[in-house]
Amino acid sequence: MTGTGAAVRRLTDWDAARLRALADEFETPLYVLDLDRVRENAARLLAAFPDADVSYAVKANATRAVLETVRDAGLGAECASAGEVRRALDAGVPGRRVRYTAVNPPARDLDDVVEASRGHDLVLTVDSADTLDRVAERGYDGRLCVRVNPGVGAGHHEKVVTGDAPQFGVPYDRSAALCADARRRGFDLVGLHAHAGSGISGEGLEAHRELVRRTSALAEEVGDLDFAAVGGGFGVPYRPEEPPLDLDAVARATREAFGDPGARLAVEPGRYVVADAGVLLTRVTAVTETPETTVAGCDAGMTTLLRPALYDAYHHIRSLAPDAAARESVRCLVAGPICETADVLARDRPLPAPARGDPLAVGNAGAYAYEMASQYNSRPRPAVVSATGDPLVRRETLSDLTRLEARVEQ
Ligand SMILES: *Cc1c(COP(=O)(O)O)cnc(C)c1O
Repeated sequence: MTGTGAAVRRLTDWDAARLRALADEFETPLYVLDLDRVRENAARLLAAFPDADVSYAVKANATRAVLETVRDAGLGAECASAGEVRRALDAGVPGRRVRYTAVNPPARDLDDVVEASRGHDLVLTVDSADTLDRVAERGYDGRLCVRVNPGVGAGHHEKVVTGDAPQFGVPYDRSAALCADARRRGFDLVGLHAHAGSGISGEGLEAHRELVRRTSALAEEVGDLDFAAVGGGFGVPYRPEEPPLDLDAVARATREAFGDPGARLAVEPGRYVVADAGVLLTRVTAVTETPETTVAGCDAGMTTLLRPALYDAYHHIRSLAPDAAARESVRCLVAGPICETADVLARDRPLPAPARGDPLAVGNAGAYAYEMASQYNSRPRPAVVSATGDPLVRRETLSDLTRLEARVEQ
């Protein structure tokens, strides 16, 4: 049996010699995933929310090994696309534990999910009256859920606050009418869904409570529902001095605000399950002293870890050089191999004086890292390995880059 582990795993808790050995064996950049830590995070969530449905938001990390691990732990799968539904089913998540939550769904997504629903009893969530019509046109007759825009948001950055952004879900005051309409048209309406964005922290609890209260009130009004999902967004500490999320306090606040609307509470964390289970390993390729800063040029950047460029996100960085502790601390710009000013992992960051060839570890790279990786600049995407050195996703090769292309000249 897996325990629930510590509330957080810091970058300094990873064994430096082990990470160095993985960097040597598999080369960099490299994502390392500790599946035991994924298990602990899943177990901690289940312990905090004992009677809730806990589903994993697949978009945080859709690697097969992660999906198999959370499936075994007893989590369902919350999917944002037809591709994620496919991955969840392929990984053996039972269809009845799979939910697809549409955001302005492309036609192909709906075609594929409706098709998948014929063999699997999954839940399809619609985000608008139009989506409901489009699902009806495709003859969907499976379980249905309605995504509500709760009108309250929470998030660590404006780009991840979705709760009151107009593009996510049916406006709150029109939701009950849409639910009634769906029932009148014969749909098997089983749930409501709301998600306020990412970044529930100690301070974010009031917005979270409000979202849960509203979702619960609506569930009671609509009546006869199996579940009401109140989203994910459980924060993790990205900075070393930040305290871990008090998960029990979040669970208590959620329970209190939820009350008893006659439907089961559902939560769907992504980041919380995988973030601290992963690190990104990179190597210093060049060190340049400039009048302003020391530039540590690395073989990883915005195409391997987009969050710093996209959200100005902080990711902790640790030198894995064996003599790091003996080196003087200097303020560094940790930059990647791409000719873009945004291609930066950290600015003005104190690090043990970097030297060419040093391996570096970047923390909290289990969530939204590999998922957001790209081949921009025609660089193959890195490999993913387990903490015990099992290959989980192979490194792409140069021939993978052109695999899909037609040749126009014979
Ligand atoms: C992204 C997302 C989640 C998970 O968010 P985290 O911050 O990773 O917990 C849950 N539900 C929906 C609908 C989402 O879009």
